[in-house]
Amino acid sequence: MSENGNRNTLASNVPDFRPELAFPQLTEEMVERLRPYAREETLPENLQLFTPGERQVDMYVVLDGEITISLPVAGGETKIIAHHRRFDFSGELNLLNSQGSLVGAQTVTESRILRIPRSQLPRLMRAEGDIANLITQATIWRRIGLLGEAAGGIVLMGHAGDAEMTQLQRFLIRNSYPHRIVEVPAEEVALLDDGLLDHEPSLPAVVLSDGRTLNRPTIAELADELGITELPDPEMIYDVVVVGAGPAGLAAAVYAASEGLCTLVIEGIAPGGQAGTSSKIENYLGFPTGISGQRLASRAQLQALKFGVRFAISREVITAEQIDGIHKLTLAGGISVCTRSVVVASGAQYRKLSVENYTQFENHGIYYAATAMESVLCRDNEVIVVGGGNSAGQAAVFLSGIAKHVHHIVRGKALASTMSQYLISRIESSSRITLYTDSEIVKLEGASSLEGVAWINRRSGDLTAKPIGSVFVMIGAEPNTGWLFGTVKLDKKGFILTGGEDGFDMTPYATSVPGMYAVGDVRSNSVKRVASAVGEGSVVISDVHRYLADHRHNFAVEPHSALAALRSASAATPLQPAEP
Ligand SMILES: Cc1cc2nc3c(=O)[nH]c(=O)nc-3n(C[C@H](O)[C@H](O)[C@H](O)COP(=O)(O)OP(=O)(O)OC[C@H]3O[C@@H](n4cnc5c(N)ncnc54)[C@H](O)[C@@H]3O)c2cc1C
Repeated sequence: MSENGNRNTLASNVPDFRPELAFPQLTEEMVERLRPYAREETLPENLQLFTPGERQVDMYVVLDGEITISLPVAGGETKIIAHHRRFDFSGELNLLNSQGSLVGAQTVTESRILRIPRSQLPRLMRAEGDIANLITQATIWRRIGLLGEAAGGIVLMGHAGDAEMTQLQRFLIRNSYPHRIVEVPAEEVALLDDGLLDHEPSLPAVVLSDGRTLNRPTIAELADELGITELPDPEMIYDVVVVGAGPAGLAAAVYAASEGLCTLVIEGIAPGGQAGTSSKIENYLGFPTGISGQRLASRAQLQALKFGVRFAISREVITAEQIDGIHKLTLAGGISVCTRSVVVASGAQYRKLSVENYTQFENHGIYYAATAMESVLCRDNEVIVVGGGNSAGQAAVFLSGIAKHVHHIVRGKALASTMSQYLISRIESSSRITLYTDSEIVKLEGASSLEGVAWINRRSGDLTAKPIGSVFVMIGAEPNTGWLFGTVKLDKKGFILTGGEDGFDMTPYATSVPGMYAVGDVRSNSVKRVASAVGEGSVVISDVHRYLADHRHNFAVEPHSALAALRSASAATPLQPAEP
């Protein structure tokens, strides 16, 4: 086995640690303003304040004395990573969410502290803007520091090429959760599993900070164990539940919570959505040198947490129904959530090719958009466009003005049935575009990025292989609306119809179900871009406010009686049957 510090995975993607931002000191005046949220206590020396893995830990401000912060490291040891003295405060990202603490804290000497209970933190964060910003900034930089600690975090053991291992690792990276990789070569995995006879294979495994091992956990199990998922409160009726934490959902959550709505976000995988898979977004306003989708998403999530948004991560919504004005969303695993309004921001997935190594080259040679940004990457090189629709045709024509040559691959016999005639004419008349009908890509090759592609003519069996580094896959996107089927009105492709179609609520984002709105890529005819998704997510909240105000008489029921009604109602009762 060999240990790969997490520098190889997470730390290489995070900025250099800045201790002055991670450990700012409160001023005396700030400490005085914290007193109404806190109680002063005198604690004996060597008292454990919280341990790694503990959830909902309080925040401590040192008045006199000293607290040390320690991180569990390999071999059951701990490493002291911070000393908090006068006017320093404890806590990292787990102050804002329900994740178990990654570190432990202990008094060194007898210490006088202000203890701010978790129940008081949201009030403090809302009311004391400057202190809230200081805490938020410190929590980000402390997490960055922990991500850079090669010896800390949980341990993920397994074989590097294994699909389950990759999935777990991707999940941890996308949720900025510190971890180390212990690589077990494929032969050792086989040996270990042979010894198990009729048992299930044991790897990949996750060793938690308390020493327990989870063998082959599912993403949901791991998320629950680490506290990445915050299970929704079944007794609560939220003002708004946002489904999906891509750019549109995160924007909706920030605006909803900052305007005082009790907000829950439910996300099936990890915050960021499609944008979270983009290595650099260069056309989002305000980031002249671009920003990775992952970083944009974690900043937005933090902003949402600061305003008190709750996140249920790695929990997919599987059904929706509405009874007496209250929406009930059921999550995978059977938990249900009640809410007065819903913002659907479940996005879409670009269709992908079924070729080996495909995901390895996404963003490293495989692209889903042909804009000026991507075109820079293929200037004077040969490129491939895949797809027979108008978007593929436009891409081929556009790229033919930049690339050395465009190889346009379609599975159909001809373009006529799927593409506008003007595009077909341009493709046919261009000496820089070669059309390959009845064809499909069969091989992708390269080390860190795409270097070679082979495709086959399915009729003749002719194989063509070329050293090409850019493939534009434009075979359409599928909306994530399966969970809404039979409830809201969808267009022919399954995207959600909004905005007064067929006489339903005239606001641009209203769906055919009262109190349910759709924003971003999941919405029919939306512009499929990060900025438009963020814009729609931001402005839809004014519609939600209006809806809640207009329907407050419907909600003037005791929450518990509404819940009882929902629970006794048949789970199969659909919202409003609609034609798909
Ligand atoms: C590789 C790539 C690169 C891109 N680059 C750019 C770029 O540079 N610039 C640009 O402007 N645009 C870019 N785009 C497009 C852009 O990312 C999307 O337009 C944008 O992410 C749409 O945001 P959204 O929030 O509407 O949906 P999405 O980003 O699709 O997010 C939807 C979220 O909902 C979740 N979800 C789905 N169903 C459920 C369910 N039932 N329950 C709970 N959660 C659910 C998903 O897991 C996902 O996280 C790129 C897209 C890709 C794929």
